[in-house]
Amino acid sequence: MPVSMRFSFRLRLLLTFWFVIVFVQWMPIQYYSRTLRRDLLDEEENKAIRQLHLVHWLLIQRNGFPDGERFNEWLTELGEQLQVRITYMATGGRIIADSQVAFADIPGMENHANRPEIVAARGQEVGSSIRYSGTVNKELFYVATSVAGLDKVPAGVVRLALPFSPIRARLDHLYQALYGLMALMLIATAALSYIITRRLQHSIAPLMRAAEAIGTGDFSQRVRIVASRELVPLADSLNRMAELIRTHIHRITAEKRQLEAILNGMRNGVMLLDVRGRVHTFNQALRNMVPSMTHIVGRRPLEVVMSPELQEACDHVLQDNSDVGAVHSLQISLEWQRFYDVNIVRVQDRHEGLGAIVVLHDISELKRLERVRKDFVSNVSHELRTPLTSIKGYSEALLSGGDQDRDTMRSFLQLILKNADHMASIISDLLKLARLEAKREQIQLVDVNPVDALTAAWKLCTPLAQGRKVQLQQQLPAEGLLVRVDFGQLVQVFRNLLENAVRYSPANEAVIVSHQVVGDWVTFSVRDLGPGIPGQEQHRIFERFYRVETVRGKEGGSTGLGLAICRHIINNHGGRIWLESFTGGETRGSTFFFTVPVAVPKEAGEP
Ligand code: ADP
Repeated sequence: MPVSMRFSFRLRLLLTFWFVIVFVQWMPIQYYSRTLRRDLLDEEENKAIRQLHLVHWLLIQRNGFPDGERFNEWLTELGEQLQVRITYMATGGRIIADSQVAFADIPGMENHANRPEIVAARGQEVGSSIRYSGTVNKELFYVATSVAGLDKVPAGVVRLALPFSPIRARLDHLYQALYGLMALMLIATAALSYIITRRLQHSIAPLMRAAEAIGTGDFSQRVRIVASRELVPLADSLNRMAELIRTHIHRITAEKRQLEAILNGMRNGVMLLDVRGRVHTFNQALRNMVPSMTHIVGRRPLEVVMSPELQEACDHVLQDNSDVGAVHSLQISLEWQRFYDVNIVRVQDRHEGLGAIVVLHDISELKRLERVRKDFVSNVSHELRTPLTSIKGYSEALLSGGDQDRDTMRSFLQLILKNADHMASIISDLLKLARLEAKREQIQLVDVNPVDALTAAWKLCTPLAQGRKVQLQQQLPAEGLLVRVDFGQLVQVFRNLLENAVRYSPANEAVIVSHQVVGDWVTFSVRDLGPGIPGQEQHRIFERFYRVETVRGKEGGSTGLGLAICRHIINNHGGRIWLESFTGGETRGSTFFFTVPVAVPKEAGEP
């Protein structure tokens, strides 16, 4: 238990006790002391009045004095007997005699007409007051009564003054006793409260320790020992509560983790917006969309995704309170050809302050494929239309007139055949490509000597090569190098690359084929000294129907599909294809590289 808490608890308990004691005792003490004081005063007053009446009666009995001095002596003697001070004054207040003042000093005494007891005695039978007397320097109790004139004594007032100090002393004793008792009780309660709080502390300390631990998240804490029987139900409740909280927290944590796993496992970007339209939570896919952004939480969707349309849609959904649960869809495009299908759902969670869920589905690939498909269809149509137009033109020419000679007709028919062949080769290449793309053509991996594949490919290129007087110069080892490939497909790759090299090589030059083994891969290169491929075109020439120059490429049955086929074949073998090409100077020419896996050497006894 913290010291401050313990102290304040003890102090509060003590102050409460004290307050109760003071409150309960103060009134009776006050009442009792007042009553006692009044009784004492009454008693004293009665005694004084009795003595006053006695003095009065004695005065009347004497019925006069020979002179003032005798009168003063008489009063002095009587005062001593009664142990009081007796003063006699004329009606106007002038002192005639005083038992405690010498007769010679009487004329010097001040007028007493205004003394309270004197004023009171004029109106009623007896007047009384308690006052401090300057004459005798004491607090005195005064009683006075009017006296009719006597012989040699004028009518006036006789007054008795009794010392008040015995009453005061009795009252002081009484107050001392009462306040002493009260102080004793306060001290006793202080001790009592100390003992009670100590005992209480001892009993509730384990409970408080457990409660504190639970408060700081340690739900394994339990109260096992309870000092006081009264606290057992409380300890049980505390233990049950801790268990319940622990179970709930475990469940909530597990659910939260599941939810996070689901969210992060999603390929769609998700962000939860709060009611102000700021990002509250997001998933890994969204983080991948904006990897450079350090803080996403608290930002507006526009800051994260940079799409005004998305921001507008979010604002609209958040403002429209009637639309809870409805899905709002839109499509947005971002830079770098990224396209997203976005669904926004309004949610209303007052506790969490959630406003909407935004799900971004990346459809860039779909869009790209759609574009590729459209391009493909238009490319195929375009590629086929040119030879078809020629075939149609020459056929119409043949049909229209009979005046052509045999040679013209023959050349027309040859052109028709050439265009038909070109169309056939486009269609054959397209089919190859389609099969390769669909992986329908199962590749049959065998150990192949690349020289065999190269020789087979070169044989197919020979008519073209002879026409252009281009030779093959190859530096592959005749034995010892084996690659693990589909033989037919390797021949196809060599053939396409050699055909291109021969086609673009200057006459009387050589096409050079070489290789390099790096680890488990062998890299083949096919080099020519042709015009080369401009840098900006190089990354596109593996696309279907892509030609650097349309005129250049269409000569000699070029389909624009050869390199696309090569790329597919090499990719299907797990390899890579690329080129280095220079269009000017001494280094002019193109080198195409591709990699295929080296065959694994066979163990002895293996077929
Ligand atoms: P094609 O059937 O037209 O040769 P490819 O896919 O094999 O189709 O080649 C695509 C284009 O790449 C060619 O049209 C040509 O413009 C360019 N190209 C290919 N190989 C070479 C090369 N060795 N030298 C210069 N250009 C080449």
